[in-house]
Amino acid sequence: MHQINDFRLQSVIEAEEPFVAPLAFFPDATQDVFDAHGHWLRPRFQDPETGSLIFAFQSYVLRTARHTILIDSCIGNDKVRTNRPGWHLRQGSFLDDLAAIGVRPEAIDFVLCTHLHADHIGWNTRLVDGRWVPTFPNARYVIARREYDFWEQRHRTDPDGPREIAFADSVLPVVEAGKSVFVDGDHQIEDGVWLEPAPGHTPGSMVVNLRSGDATAVLLGDSIHHPIQLKRPDWSCMACEDKAQSAQTRRGLIERYADTDTLMAPAHFAAPSPCRFVRDGDAFGFEAAL
Ligand SMILES: [Zn+2]
Repeated sequence: MHQINDFRLQSVIEAEEPFVAPLAFFPDATQDVFDAHGHWLRPRFQDPETGSLIFAFQSYVLRTARHTILIDSCIGNDKVRTNRPGWHLRQGSFLDDLAAIGVRPEAIDFVLCTHLHADHIGWNTRLVDGRWVPTFPNARYVIARREYDFWEQRHRTDPDGPREIAFADSVLPVVEAGKSVFVDGDHQIEDGVWLEPAPGHTPGSMVVNLRSGDATAVLLGDSIHHPIQLKRPDWSCMACEDKAQSAQTRRGLIERYADTDTLMAPAHFAAPSPCRFVRDGDAFGFEAAL
């Protein structure tokens, strides 16, 4: 648990596992960089046996005096994800794990979607009597208008596409239930909690900024996936829609926060994910958050 002055930030990890081969995930990557950084990458961030990058899949729960806010909702249960065996018809304990930190679905006031990829929206809905219904019945689900429009168009073109299918089972039911809030540009949820566009990975990707007193944090969504990108901020991933813009956004965020006290909360760094970014020669690194 991280205290950001009056705010409490907690991670709920749905899965953490060797996920993807590095050179497949980062099209611009070369093996020599992973070899040069192997001493700190392995075993925490890269599986020594297979070489696969280790990814966490997690939600962050933010508690302020006024609200309980979920940032991203992981992979979900019962979803048809034939392209990802580990996500397909999953039966995980996410809601029990949420309950274990004292959060019932009814208590969530907002779900902030940094973007609409399947591993960030899965628990937006759950399967009840054969229908997808909002998991968090009292929540408003906050989605960038630009992101919604992009996936709505993609879904219309290719409804069964591996990424588009998640839009149908994890976004549309929320919208049809009248639970969605579409936002443009910066958007404040309450004093000290606001969304900021971070485009590139997807057109409407956002980060979530927190400020309480003089303490600050940023929930990074998929503006960065893996700590190797602190060494190579220009490496965008194969899922980035606009790789050049993604790299520009990532570098901008890293440069803005390196060597500051701002807590960085990436979505996919192996646990514990929250850390502080630091400069390291002409690249960057991270330090454990206290
Ligand atoms: Zn993503």
